[in-house]
Amino acid sequence: MSLLVARDVDVVRDGTVILDGVSLEIQRGEVLALVGPNGAGKSTLLGVLSGDARPTRGAIELDGRPIGDYRPLELARHRAVLTQENAVSFPFRAIEVIQMGRSPWNRTSRIDEDSRAVTDAVEATDVSHLLGRRYTSLSGGEKARVSLARVLAQRTQLLFLDEPTAALDLRHQEDVMLTARALAAEDRAVVVVLHDLSLAGAYADRIALLSGGRLVASGTPHEVLDAEVIGGVYGLAVRVIVQDGVPMVLPVRDSLPR
Ligand code: ADP
Ligand code: MG
Repeated sequence: MSLLVARDVDVVRDGTVILDGVSLEIQRGEVLALVGPNGAGKSTLLGVLSGDARPTRGAIELDGRPIGDYRPLELARHRAVLTQENAVSFPFRAIEVIQMGRSPWNRTSRIDEDSRAVTDAVEATDVSHLLGRRYTSLSGGEKARVSLARVLAQRTQLLFLDEPTAALDLRHQEDVMLTARALAAEDRAVVVVLHDLSLAGAYADRIALLSGGRLVASGTPHEVLDAEVIGGVYGLAVRVIVQDGVPMVLPVRDSLPR
């Protein structure tokens, strides 16, 4: 059985159709990359898939149950969400932000995992040197990694990550995607919004391509990262090259002055 199923999901906000008939399934053990141009509806889709927002029409089932039936605490034990803003305005220390990821497990037997879960999350995101710092004083990339650590510390079956690599340097981008793969190897599922199509091509099992609120392609990286499809959706001539068996998308820059 699929961990999450979305059927024919529409989202209309203030009279504007933001998502139009999106159907998607997420399996345990997979990394699903959600890609598409700015404004395509990726964050909106992540919001309804994670149960943070209600779709206008359509059904979303988590573990065979309508997601709207889950109580907030129960939902927090099933899935963790890294939003695009990851806003923390109160000057908590980084360690406190990460420990917040454990709060859904208060007063459960899994409280025993607290320190291990936090230690593992700190290690995976390379933030041990930042733990005593105020979150508000961190750089954009440091904030993103601390926020990701909080989400990892929650230790859920399903993770939703909205552009976790956007503010990160090359090495930390790779680290995030290797962490996603490690979670999938533990039979968890990761849905990750990415702008870097080559990162999606290298690390995702499947790619879902959104454009104008519609799912225009979905499949393996080799299926979706087609120069014609990508070129059409982004309105830019691209070339897909395969390196070490991995498809990479590059803009065509033939007219670049030299
Ligand atoms: P993405 O994450 O793919 O960049 P979003 O899901 O954030 O896109 O937004 C999709 C589109 O919906 C954008 O064009 C955005 O401006 C629009 N949008 C979001 N909220 C509203 C709203 N309340 N009313 C009208 N349009 C909205
Ligand atoms: Mg977004």
